Amino acid sequence: MPLVNPANKRSIEIVVVGSGLAGASAAATLAEMGYKVKCFCFQDSPRRAHSIAAQGGINAAKNYQNDGDSVYRLFYDTIKGGDYRAREANVHRLAEVSANIIDQCVAQGVPLAREYGGLLDNRSFGGTQVQRTFYAAGQTGQQLLLGAYSALERQIGMGKVEMFTRHEMLEVVVIEGKARGIIARNLITGELERHFGHAVLLGTGGYGNVFYLSTNAMGSNVTAAWKAHKKGAFFGNPCFTQIHPTCIPVSGDHQSKLTLMSESLRNDGRIWVPKKKDDPRKATDIPEDERDYYLERRYPAFGNLVPRDVASRAAKERCDAGYGVGVSKLAVYLDFAANTERYGRIEATKHNIHNPDKETCMRLGREVVKEKYGNLFDMYKQITGEDPYELPMRIYPAVHYTMGGLWVDYNLMTTVPGLYALGEANFSDHGANRLGASALMQGLADGYFVIPYTIGSYLSKELATKPIPLDHPAFVEAEASVKSILDKFIAIKGTKSVDHFHKKLGKIMWEKCGMARNAKGLTEAISEIQQLRKDFWSDVRVPGSTDEFNPELEKAGRVADFIELGELMCMDALNRNESCGGHFREEYQTEEGEALRDDENYAYVSAWEYKEGMSFELHKEELKFENIKIAQRSYK
Ligand SMILES: Cc1cc2nc3c(=O)[nH]c(=O)nc-3n(C[C@H](O)[C@H](O)[C@H](O)COP(=O)(O)OP(=O)(O)OC[C@H]3O[C@@H](n4cnc5c(N)ncnc54)[C@H](O)[C@@H]3O)c2cc1C
Repeated sequence: MPLVNPANKRSIEIVVVGSGLAGASAAATLAEMGYKVKCFCFQDSPRRAHSIAAQGGINAAKNYQNDGDSVYRLFYDTIKGGDYRAREANVHRLAEVSANIIDQCVAQGVPLAREYGGLLDNRSFGGTQVQRTFYAAGQTGQQLLLGAYSALERQIGMGKVEMFTRHEMLEVVVIEGKARGIIARNLITGELERHFGHAVLLGTGGYGNVFYLSTNAMGSNVTAAWKAHKKGAFFGNPCFTQIHPTCIPVSGDHQSKLTLMSESLRNDGRIWVPKKKDDPRKATDIPEDERDYYLERRYPAFGNLVPRDVASRAAKERCDAGYGVGVSKLAVYLDFAANTERYGRIEATKHNIHNPDKETCMRLGREVVKEKYGNLFDMYKQITGEDPYELPMRIYPAVHYTMGGLWVDYNLMTTVPGLYALGEANFSDHGANRLGASALMQGLADGYFVIPYTIGSYLSKELATKPIPLDHPAFVEAEASVKSILDKFIAIKGTKSVDHFHKKLGKIMWEKCGMARNAKGLTEAISEIQQLRKDFWSDVRVPGSTDEFNPELEKAGRVADFIELGELMCMDALNRNESCGGHFREEYQTEEGEALRDDENYAYVSAWEYKEGMSFELHKEELKFENIKIAQRSYK
């Protein structure tokens, strides 16, 4: 990779949109290296980025457990977990730098969990047979973000990063084919601002909220990525969505948010449903031999730790077959009794209590469980009113993460020169299904270790470029186009709220482009979304004005973009006549109901190009597997 010398770095300006793990780590590192950085987020503080919600952990191939882990195994697990739809080179690099991330975060003071002897602790996550997940109780994202945020604040304090909170990027400015800045709206005053950068980095997160209900933060949205897409950045694998198996089930029509119960719980819990349909008994009254531990039955090698797509589909299959539990019958049990007892027995032995009775084991075991997962158990109790220490949790799959995103090359550059995408905003490393604890790893790899090196490749050729004045016609034009869209929202003065349209979109997406998809449903979804788009633009009601704090206006812009994205997601899902990872086309499955890939025709990344007037052209990046033998995934 070509380098930029320290003196030249000082005259190069970089715009970083996003202050989550990807954006904050990139902004801090680039500033540390000497570049002049401007960082933007729509929250009131960088530390409120959605990354703060991450619970379970972050993977790294440290092999601290001496259980056979290695860079190659992490690489292999990730490619296999993604159902052979990720690019080998990027994933291998991710596995290589994973260990550095842990060192970096520990050096920053991130309080990752430790064993009694002081060594960093690990736990298991899905899709692997080793324990490589580092964690900080059930708040790993928060602690990692505090690390990245502290590094960022340090640079802000030194004047090397200029931070713009409560600013929303609404357009990329492209001059002579290169990204040269952004238009951002000050969300407090409504003022539109122009910002120049020799390069623009988007670490703007995922788009799971296209489904309306998801585990994502309410503010997570696709607008930055979508605007970039409409300015020439290809969108990679838009239909690849992750449905997480362990979420608190939907409880009614008025809900606006779903809650994740971390995958780390699957490590210690056992998932089951009653063997009898519509069993009216309380979970604790159902004897052991009348329970179906269906994941352990179907996948003896991985059991409860199969990847998320597999676990989600298996839960849906049981519920569709009539074995679901709870009032809605759209739930399965996640039970901690066996492990609580096991932990308690160990504790009893430690306390010299020999032959302890079950009650003693449960009492002592509960303390261990509390220490590991206390905040998650409390959250479950607050939301459902049931005590998970006494009764098994009820869980059901929910939208959680988007593997799709802006297409990027090995250097994380989109198809617009000078425009980069990092973290969940890009499509890069997870193929058709992301393994648990790998998003934090990717976001931080991109920000701390990848972009600081790869960006030099582009910037070393930009040394002669002087800052472009903000009255350049491209800035004027970009700002005018943003203004006209905002004015249009206010002018419609329709009868329906923004949420009305968002909910409708979410319902179409969940039913026809969700956990299971088929050609008929996707074709219907495309025309329903097109109609929804027309209705939105003629009947949405956005109160207030553009030159003030106006959250409804913000939402309108985001939902308008979600509607357009939804259509592309359905087109992508319809184009991909195979099942792989989270993309399950009902027409393509094995006799046992597993995803059936078509490697001959679909071993490619779909990279969609936007064309004027809402049409899209498909480009294909062929996937070559030179270090892994491509095979039918098996977790049996
Ligand atoms: C409940 C939950 C738990 C999770 N737990 C784990 C876990 O244990 N392990 C794991 O590996 N992964 C986990 N994930 C996934 C992981 O948290 C995310 O993939 C990751 O944090 C995304 O980081 P990011 O930096 O790419 O984006 P984000 O953290 O979403 O940050 C996006 C940033 O972009 C800014 N932004 C967005 N659009 C604009 C705009 N238009 N203008 C200005 N700023 C903008 C936002 O303000 C924000 O600062 C979890 C996800 C959820 C939902």
